[in-house]
Amino acid sequence: MIAHSQHCIVIGAGTVGTSCAWHLRRAGFAVTLVDPELPGQSTSFGNCGCISPNQIIPFSYPGVTRELPAWLFDRLGPLVIRWQHLPTLAPWFWRFWRASNWDNVHHIAESQTHLMRQIIEDFAEITDATGTRDLIQEKGMINVYDTVDEFKSAQWKYELMTRHDFEWEIIGPDELRIMVPELRLEKGMALYYPQWWHTVNPGLLTGRIAESAFADGVEWLQDKVSRVNPGPVGVTVSTESGRELEADQLVVAAGAWSNLIAKQIEGRTVPMTAKRGYHLHFTDPGIELEYPVTSSTRFFVITPMHDGVRIAGTAEFASLDAEPDYRRAQVLKEHGKHYLPNLQVEEASEWMGRRPMMADSLPVMGRSPRHERVLYAFGHGHYGLAQGPTTGKIIARLAQGQDPGTDLQPYRFDRF
Ligand SMILES: Cc1cc2nc3c(=O)[nH]c(=O)nc-3n(C[C@H](O)[C@H](O)[C@H](O)COP(=O)(O)OP(=O)(O)OC[C@H]3O[C@@H](n4cnc5c(N)ncnc54)[C@H](O)[C@@H]3O)c2cc1C
Repeated sequence: MIAHSQHCIVIGAGTVGTSCAWHLRRAGFAVTLVDPELPGQSTSFGNCGCISPNQIIPFSYPGVTRELPAWLFDRLGPLVIRWQHLPTLAPWFWRFWRASNWDNVHHIAESQTHLMRQIIEDFAEITDATGTRDLIQEKGMINVYDTVDEFKSAQWKYELMTRHDFEWEIIGPDELRIMVPELRLEKGMALYYPQWWHTVNPGLLTGRIAESAFADGVEWLQDKVSRVNPGPVGVTVSTESGRELEADQLVVAAGAWSNLIAKQIEGRTVPMTAKRGYHLHFTDPGIELEYPVTSSTRFFVITPMHDGVRIAGTAEFASLDAEPDYRRAQVLKEHGKHYLPNLQVEEASEWMGRRPMMADSLPVMGRSPRHERVLYAFGHGHYGLAQGPTTGKIIARLAQGQDPGTDLQPYRFDRF
């Protein structure tokens, strides 16, 4: 059992790292949270805000590669590859393709289920304790398809959700009109997922959880970690501004940048890429929306936020530090107008974020295989908001030497 007065450094103040810091402090650790950005200002700032238990289906499944050409050559399609970056991306795509078999699909869906089953309870816990419940809506979510055939060909996904006890139901046009009066769906169909929650401001939510952690004694250091040096009894962390910190344990929660740190610790990396996504945020949308709406035809999400409506999505593959291409964000306008013809699209702010996307769609969580003083908490891909509090809880238990409450085998750093 680890003494509670121990010092933990958490690298990265996104939703994941901030949740880790909050849970570690609650467990009695002295905690330092380090990030050059303010809490919740990186990828955790601009996401769609969905806390989405049903999302257990991996992105790599049999036949996915056959769908790629149509997506890539469609101007409005969900996927873009910056071809000049392909040599850097190729190993990730190779792993992604290798994961596309049914055995893997079932294994990954089950492993996601272990996490997704806990997320609502863990969100309730952290938002109640930090006084941030006002940023949460418990409405569920509407999922639309432009054609019934598309829904039929995705049947296997719904069978898997049902097998794992996640709820969804088909809703008819009359019910849809009452729930989302602004939505136009000519030939398509709609489903309702009652278990979903959403936050009306993901960046502010993480920022306020961080403030609560600081009030409880977590130390904040706005700095970039340049070097980590793990040893048998602790870890030394050096920062860009020349500070040197000592800790008993280190948590790497640096989102899409985590491989840069893991490489120093393990001498190797995991197959993770920055799967870039964009949003458009309309503060004067001219419509009222009560529920988040996701399109399984056009692969994007429309979320009602505290100050308007956000449309987010797309998957752009490029190297970690490539400049944003905001034409991808502008495409979202056309998607928005397709379903919400009255949406006012003239005034919008644009944003790009980097999803820390593992080739097998599962995060990396648990102790380093090489240094027992290092814990990993990254690679949550599309679900880092949803799984942040659950990850924080698991990491705090591990740091205390307790049973994490979840079998961590599927999320091991060295599973590849
Ligand atoms: C368009 C879009 C929509 C999304 N929608 C959803 C959604 O609805 N629901 C959901 O659950 N997820 C969603 N996601 C995914 C979600 O945003 C991410 O999974 C999540 O933000 C990752 O959180 P994180 O804390 O791991 O990373 P981040 O928020 O990126 O935080 C990592 C932090 O590490 C810091 N860092 C990096 N290197 C260092 C260093 N050397 N030293 C110190 N600090 C460092 C960075 O500055 C950064 O602040 C979406 C993503 C996108 C792009």
